[in-house]
Amino acid sequence: MRIIPVFIPHSGCKSRCSFCNEYSATGFSGRPDESQIRKIVLEYRSYFKNKDHIQLGFYGGTFTGNIPSVMEEYLNIALKLYEENLIHGIRFSTSPDEIDGEKIKILRRYPVEMIELGVESFDDEVLRKSRRPHGMEEIYESVKLIKENDISFGIHLMTDLPFSSEDKDFDSVLKTVELKPDLVRIHPTVVLRGSALEKEYLDGEYIPKSLDETIEQLWKIYVLFRSSGITVSRIGICLYGEQKKSVVAGPFHEALGDIVKSRVYYEVLMEILRRKGRIEIPISQKNIFTGYKKCILKKLNENGIDYTLCEMEEINIEYYIRMLSSELLGGVK
Ligand code: SF4
Repeated sequence: MRIIPVFIPHSGCKSRCSFCNEYSATGFSGRPDESQIRKIVLEYRSYFKNKDHIQLGFYGGTFTGNIPSVMEEYLNIALKLYEENLIHGIRFSTSPDEIDGEKIKILRRYPVEMIELGVESFDDEVLRKSRRPHGMEEIYESVKLIKENDISFGIHLMTDLPFSSEDKDFDSVLKTVELKPDLVRIHPTVVLRGSALEKEYLDGEYIPKSLDETIEQLWKIYVLFRSSGITVSRIGICLYGEQKKSVVAGPFHEALGDIVKSRVYYEVLMEILRRKGRIEIPISQKNIFTGYKKCILKKLNENGIDYTLCEMEEINIEYYIRMLSSELLGGVK
């Protein structure tokens, strides 16, 4: 699966969430027209070696929050590209309050394969304080409608939003697992230039987590999703080039996903150590257990933990992730 992202910053958003500034995050200001979208598609296609399944993704706004004619304008552009076999499906991000029966009826006329819901949190107070346009009820209603219409869906969650806590974030993860989305994206809150959160941060009302604290929180979240068979398609906000400078504060790291996964694989080795009393790493899995920039091996060395690399049967990582998940859930009150 290859995704060609088309950014439509704040298009369809009826209000502005406190943490958001898609203009600075994407570097785009206007809505792309048909020729620009076609150009983007052709450019991306020239990079892809495998052109088997390409989806056109509309991101950066509330796709279904647009008036029907604007939403259909995009869908029709995508449909033309689909009919020319340049793309093979459509996906988009939207807010749960902007999904209803009428909109789904329109969407069903197009090759829409995935709806990514910006849920962010399952706590009404957190949603309110972040100026989200929806509450819990809309999350459940939208998921029900999407499921009834047999469309795949993803959930976008944020950690460390104002007035959230690790317990509230953990609860959001458990509620997400119950809904069984096809994928999740997890995005720890960072303070973006020009967002309302920037003012709260500058006034000392919001203090973001450090990168280390965030990694300690995220590896557990990743374990819960992975052990539930839910694909984590992204960890961390997506910022490229100059847009990285729009982060005023917060746990931004380009390789956050790799670092979090490495942290999980370190815990897998700790679980093996607890059960077997020694760590043996199969040579065939050396890359996995070396970690991002050798961080796993460095951590083992720092903690004075011995390990050997040898020819042996591969470690069943999923088994150990399930073990870790049960231990984490055992700690949930
Ligand atoms: S988070 Fe989504 S709904 Fe909120 S302002 Fe940004 S793009 Fe719009």
